[in-house]
Amino acid sequence: MADIWQQTLHWTPTVQQQLQFQRLYEFILEGNRQLNLTRIIDPQEFWEKHLWDSLRGIAPLLKDGVGGENTSSPPSSPLSLIDIGTGAGFPGIPIAICVANFTVTLLDSTRKKISFLEKTKDALELTNIKTLIGRAEEVGQQPQYRQTYDVALIRAVGTASVCAEYALPLLKQGGLAVIYRGNWTEEETKALENAVEQLGGIIESVEEFTTPLSDSIRHCLYLRKVATTPSQFPRPAGVPTQRPL
Ligand code: SAH
Repeated sequence: MADIWQQTLHWTPTVQQQLQFQRLYEFILEGNRQLNLTRIIDPQEFWEKHLWDSLRGIAPLLKDGVGGENTSSPPSSPLSLIDIGTGAGFPGIPIAICVANFTVTLLDSTRKKISFLEKTKDALELTNIKTLIGRAEEVGQQPQYRQTYDVALIRAVGTASVCAEYALPLLKQGGLAVIYRGNWTEEETKALENAVEQLGGIIESVEEFTTPLSDSIRHCLYLRKVATTPSQFPRPAGVPTQRPL
C-alpha cells in the first residue's frame, strides 16, 4: 500500500509503522473474540476503512509533512489530541502510530474497550497514547479536560450536532474538531451552523473525498473553536442525543 499512502497523503510508513499496523490488526482480530470491536475484519477493508480513513481525516494537519524517517519534511508541531468514542481505537491509534509527537487520548465510556486499548498500546509500544474511561458529556465538564485539547476527533458516535456538543467544550480556543461522516449534504451544513455557533465554534470547512480501494464517498467536517463554550455545554449524559441543539 506504500504507493497509495504516498499518492493520497504524501507519506510512506516506515517499517516500524507497518509492523505496528499489522500488530494492531492482529490484536483486533484476537480481541473481537471476546469483545464486539469491529465488523471490519477483511484485511483490505480494514486497511481502507480503519487505517486509511483514520489518517485521511487529519490530512489538513499533515500538510507540513509528518516528519517520518523517510520523508524530508520537518516534524509536525506537538499537539494534544482526544479521540471521543474511540471504540477499537479509531481514528486515534493510526494517528498515534503515524505522528509520534502528537499525544492522543483515547476516550470511551466502555471500560472493557479501554482495557483492550491499554493492552494494545503496551504491545505496540505507543508511549504517546493515554486512555480515559468516561462519557464525553461528563469529561467535557471536568476542569482537567475541558478546554485542554488542540484537536478533537470523533467518528461514528452520533449525529453531527451531538458530535459538536461533545467535541467543542474539550478544545482550547483556536482548536479544531474533526467530525468523520459518510454522506453529507450542504443542507446538513446549513442545519448544523446554529448548533456549532451556540457552542463557540464555526464550520471552517467540509472536505469530500473518495476512498482509494472501494471508491466510496466520505466527508470530514472541520470545526474551529473561536469563542469560549458556554458552561452549560455539554449538557448532562444523554441530553445531547435526546434534545439535539
Ligand atoms: N470511533 C470508533 C468507534 C465507533 S462506535 C470507530 O469509528 O470505529 C461508538 C463508540 O463510542 C463506542 O465504543 C461507544 O462505547 C462510544 N460512546 C458512545 N457514546 C459515548 C459517550 N457519550 N461518551 C464516550 N464514549 C461514547
